[in-house]
Amino acid sequence: MINQIVLEKNFISCIVIAPFFNKFTMLVVQKFGGTSVGDIPRIKNVARKVKAELDKKNKVIVVVSAMSGVTNQLVDYCNQVSSLISEEALAEYDSIVSSGEQVTSGLLALELQSMGYKARSLLGWQIPLKTDNSHSKARIESIDGDFLLKSLDSYDVVVVAGFQGIEEESNRIATLGRGGSDTSAVAIAAAVKADICDIYTDVNGVYTTDPRITDKARRLKKVTYEEMLEMAYSGSKVLQTRSVAMAMNHNVRVRVLSTFEEVSDASGTTLVNNIEEIMERRMITGISYSKNDVRITLVKMPDHPGVSARIFGALADKDINIDMIVQNVSQDGNSFDITFTVPNTDFEMAKMTIESIADEIKYEKLLFDDNIAKISVIGVGMISHSGVAHTMFKTLAEKNINILLISTSEIKVSVLIAKEYGELAVRMLHDAYGLNAKNKD
Ligand code: ADP
Ligand code: ASP
Ligand code: MG
Repeated sequence: MINQIVLEKNFISCIVIAPFFNKFTMLVVQKFGGTSVGDIPRIKNVARKVKAELDKKNKVIVVVSAMSGVTNQLVDYCNQVSSLISEEALAEYDSIVSSGEQVTSGLLALELQSMGYKARSLLGWQIPLKTDNSHSKARIESIDGDFLLKSLDSYDVVVVAGFQGIEEESNRIATLGRGGSDTSAVAIAAAVKADICDIYTDVNGVYTTDPRITDKARRLKKVTYEEMLEMAYSGSKVLQTRSVAMAMNHNVRVRVLSTFEEVSDASGTTLVNNIEEIMERRMITGISYSKNDVRITLVKMPDHPGVSARIFGALADKDINIDMIVQNVSQDGNSFDITFTVPNTDFEMAKMTIESIADEIKYEKLLFDDNIAKISVIGVGMISHSGVAHTMFKTLAEKNINILLISTSEIKVSVLIAKEYGELAVRMLHDAYGLNAKNKD
């Protein structure tokens, strides 16, 4: 898949049956991330957030992540015993790393029971949430929304373990890629036609850039699905890319909220369809930053038709996501180089894949560089403003930051630079585009 967002395939939402609805005012999906369920007091805090919805007579489906740090620890265990290259290994990886969500869904259900509610946990396979067989980054194929709605007839609240589903053919657990609980939540919201999907996290909304990089970042009250898709894809991990694609395709109302603040109508960030809904006129909406890519260069290949198709075809067969691509033909026109980037999690697989077709594509050298950062400026306002790229390049040049690669879309300009300048570049650009908090209107 080249410079394109992967959408979940064949996602089927169920037909919702009216009688389930008459006892409550809204059907709400609440998703709580790792920090929000990071320890027992925090799980109790989450239970209070659930109670607040139940007090409003809403029906609630909760989706939880693993406690913060747990998935990383589980991934680390896997890496200590396997290079995780084969499908078999990745299926075991999924079984292992999905276990963190089993713990938190059970604990939250227990806490809700202690508060007097009829609550139960649900693992992916119990719903079932069915996926394809792309272990470690599986796509959702269907969800039995009917089962979830029926469960709400017998229970006050159900707590779903995020991040996981079942691959039907082999009857094995599959996970949805890092950050995948966001996608579980949005997919479930689509399947049950929820009124809203609230994503609770450790920040109180989507900001102009990662608030951990600059305290001048400011909260966006609204952001379009397209912008959020580009921001997520370019590294703003506040929402997993697939969750935004899913929300956009299925018209799910999504809000990003803080678990640690009181929620009011003015809280958080709402994803909207239409730029018209955003009163504020802006050229740039946000700046994303990713330091998890690897640059791969194939040097001096004989220049004839079909070489690029062979390379990217082989990578696509392995489900490897390619982002930026640059091709240079030599001056004499006889050979060419190709440079592209892949997520570091796909790097080993990409390297093996390229090496396996070395005899066919006949490169002279294969080079790798993970000392890189990708900075992207994003905004639908770009469509009607010129000079966005120039401002970016000029700002970086003023700090003597060298640009290694450039790619653009209608609403995004991305550059690759040396990793050491990543955060500095974000701060400089945030300032240059007038995004700092003091410019708030
Ligand atoms: P959770 O565990 O709740 O899923 P994540 O760590 O996945 O939370 O995502 C929340 C984090 O996303 C924030 O702590 C923040 O550092 C980071 N982040 C990156 N870009 C942005 C942005 N533009 N706006 C808000 N948060 C962002
Ligand atoms: N626990 C998983 C992860 O850390 C899924 C998630 O938190 O969304 O990637
Ligand atoms: Mg997350």
